[in-house]
Amino acid sequence: MKSIVLGGGVIGVTTAYYLAQEGHEVVVVEARDQLGTDATGGNAGLIAPGHSFAWASPAAPRMLLASLRGQATAIRVKPRLDPKLASWGLQFLRECTTTRAEANTLIKLKLCKYSQGQLNQLAAAERIEFEHVQRGAAYLYRTEADLELGVKKMDLLRCHGVPMNVLDAKQVAELDPAFASAGDTFAGGIHVTSDASGDSELFTNELADRCKGLGVQFELGVTAERFVTDGDSVRGVQTSKGLMRADNYVLALGIQSPFLSKTAGQRLPIYPAKGYSLTADIIDPEAAPKVGGVDEATLVAWSRFGDQLRMSSTAEFSGYSRDWKFSDFSNVLKTGREIFPRAVDWDGARMRACLRPMTPDGPPIIGRGKHTNLFYNTGHGHMGWTMACGSSRILTDVMAGRKPALDLRGFEVRSRRVAA
Ligand SMILES: Cc1cc2nc3c(=O)[nH]c(=O)nc-3n(C[C@H](O)[C@H](O)[C@H](O)COP(=O)(O)OP(=O)(O)OC[C@H]3O[C@@H](n4cnc5c(N)ncnc54)[C@H](O)[C@@H]3O)c2cc1C
Repeated sequence: MKSIVLGGGVIGVTTAYYLAQEGHEVVVVEARDQLGTDATGGNAGLIAPGHSFAWASPAAPRMLLASLRGQATAIRVKPRLDPKLASWGLQFLRECTTTRAEANTLIKLKLCKYSQGQLNQLAAAERIEFEHVQRGAAYLYRTEADLELGVKKMDLLRCHGVPMNVLDAKQVAELDPAFASAGDTFAGGIHVTSDASGDSELFTNELADRCKGLGVQFELGVTAERFVTDGDSVRGVQTSKGLMRADNYVLALGIQSPFLSKTAGQRLPIYPAKGYSLTADIIDPEAAPKVGGVDEATLVAWSRFGDQLRMSSTAEFSGYSRDWKFSDFSNVLKTGREIFPRAVDWDGARMRACLRPMTPDGPPIIGRGKHTNLFYNTGHGHMGWTMACGSSRILTDVMAGRKPALDLRGFEVRSRRVAA
């Protein structure tokens, strides 16, 4: 059985691995010259079921409105004449009720939890080192009132099996001595003890090496251009290197997935949410955090990747451009200098913008669509690193005709939300 996996991010490479384990002959097609350098290479590194909340929530419309009035909000939209954004935005707004937000969060949570287990198993079986830190994640609050609201919000996850402790300011500093550098910035926090962090680009490349050992072929610098279909099956994929044929095709192109799926007549509700990502060299290891986390006031997230600190923030709906200005990093830099002032070489920090492949409701798209041999594993939004192994394991089960470990409701191949 030959399968072509389109996309060499963490989703495509984990899919390739599980398919190769099943005995498939696998080819991965990746447009760039390296694997895992797009969203996978810029994320905050958190492996965090404790961060599963759907972005479409009752609070989101207010935040988007404030951003339209020019306020510097963590989720923001830049108004533009873009029918894709308009259609996606309307679907997003429909998901912003309390009931929908809770349902979407729980669908994401079950995948995140399952996936973390799969990641741990895979990393142990293949002996993959990827700067994995398993000390939980800290969600930190600057005021008592916000901490109280945070604890209330987290109750949903706690009731669904996410282990956590509420910490006062002193306990935050004890959890990781680096947090003490923040002085009295934080009133307290929530320590989700099962969360973790790690470098997904490193993981993707290490896993690709194991894949090569299983016979997976990587076609780098090759762009998939369109599907060639015949009735309800895909006959090939036209690429910059010519027509490629296989028995099965898996679409894992991140933000580009809707463009290719459209050539097979399938619309996908995926739109990019731009984030700003900074990586800085650690100059004082004791002052740099080992525990990953999020400053819940500024929504800056961080992870320790060995001798580097990764920080990211912001979700900006502004199209497909990865352009950035120095001022786009003011939130990350201000937060970083405030809470970890001596930890890293701030002046030498490397900056980039990258794009999260967001669905309006939040859960990714996993499974078979209208073609018998075209499968989807895409739209993982702000949690794709956490979800990757679980999502790809499930897709492999579907392709093998096995019942996956999770109920697939909520992950269907869809152009809009399927009513529950
Ligand atoms: C700022 C930021 C912070 C984040 N933080 C976290 C976090 O802390 N935890 C977490 O779990 N997740 C996080 N995420 C989300 C996570 O990074 C993504 O969901 C995940 O990387 C998506 O993986 P992917 O493989 O689908 O996409 P990508 O990594 O974007 O890979 C898609 C690949 O397809 C290739 N491609 C595109 N078009 C074509 C084509 N036509 N032909 C061939 N190849 C093509 C691209 O070059 C790319 O390599 C974050 C994302 C961002 C942007």
